[in-house]
Amino acid sequence: MSFSERLLAWWERHGRHDLPWQTDRSPYRVWLSEIMLQQTQVATAKPYFERFTQRFPELEDLARAEIDEVLALWSGLGYYARARNLHRSAELCLERHDGSLPEQAEALQALPGVGRSTANAILAQAWDRRAPILDGNVKRVLARHRAIAGWPGRSSVEKLLWQAAEELTPDNRAADYTQAIMDLGATVCRPRNPDCRRCPVAEDCRARIEGRTEELPGRRPKKTRPRRQAEYLLLRDSAGRVLLERRPPAGIWGGLWSLPEHDSLELSGELEPLPSPAPMEHEFSHFSLRLEFHHVRLDTAIQVEDRVTAWLNIAEALERGLPRPMRALLECLDESDPGQAARDRLR
Ligand code: SF4
Repeated sequence: MSFSERLLAWWERHGRHDLPWQTDRSPYRVWLSEIMLQQTQVATAKPYFERFTQRFPELEDLARAEIDEVLALWSGLGYYARARNLHRSAELCLERHDGSLPEQAEALQALPGVGRSTANAILAQAWDRRAPILDGNVKRVLARHRAIAGWPGRSSVEKLLWQAAEELTPDNRAADYTQAIMDLGATVCRPRNPDCRRCPVAEDCRARIEGRTEELPGRRPKKTRPRRQAEYLLLRDSAGRVLLERRPPAGIWGGLWSLPEHDSLELSGELEPLPSPAPMEHEFSHFSLRLEFHHVRLDTAIQVEDRVTAWLNIAEALERGLPRPMRALLECLDESDPGQAARDRLR
């Protein structure tokens, strides 16, 4: 049997068939799931997908939503550019494609956040069109099966992987095959300890035969991740509210609500220092950030309500789109005693 026949036979018995985007399948739901699954595992993405589609059942609902609401629903999923791209893409589909996703690879790739593999995954799963994909899972399976050495992020290696994907993708059952190869990568041909005994394509897998499953695919060349540090003001008023600032659209946490950076505000009035929460570490793809906090109470509830800042009680703040560490911090704060939770968190 061919590679795809073995894979499909395996998938029918052992693959995933009840993912929320597999039921009520539509181009919009497939696209949404594909964007959410970039850099995110199925188990994490599932509840977000369900909340999103409840609030925005159709593409047009997403296009007409406020970006703040989209970011709030995305909050905690990370890589927020994906949420901004989704929203912008929905608007573009409304402007250019009568409110539907386009059915051509080129037009799909013209949408922000949709690369070649994502466009093909959408074509295959939404319209059952033959379109090879090459996401992280598929790269791993093919690099091992064909013993393609080198880091898949390198263009020469990626080219070989695309060739393999082209050759192995069958003419029929595009949607099932796409799901099958993603499932194989996620559940059997895992990054560590691939379960070759359960693998339907083990017989001719070169990495298995040559004992190289641990070394393939090749690792990204090591670069030390720079460390940065930022200081944030955890500013409370006499009612216990916190001051949040909306971050500019570009840069880290673009468009999300955050504690203001320490040097971005000029404070006046009576300030009472409160015990500050312990610093936090947060990993971005290109650097590590150490967050330090200065916890201060103002004597009066000053009003700062404009486009970029807002005084909010904790429950209101948690409804905004927040960076993950800020959410974690605010979740521990006590509404009634601004100092208590911070004292609890003191190292
Ligand atoms: S045999 Fe092992 S290494 Fe090869 S594709 Fe299957 S699970 Fe991956």
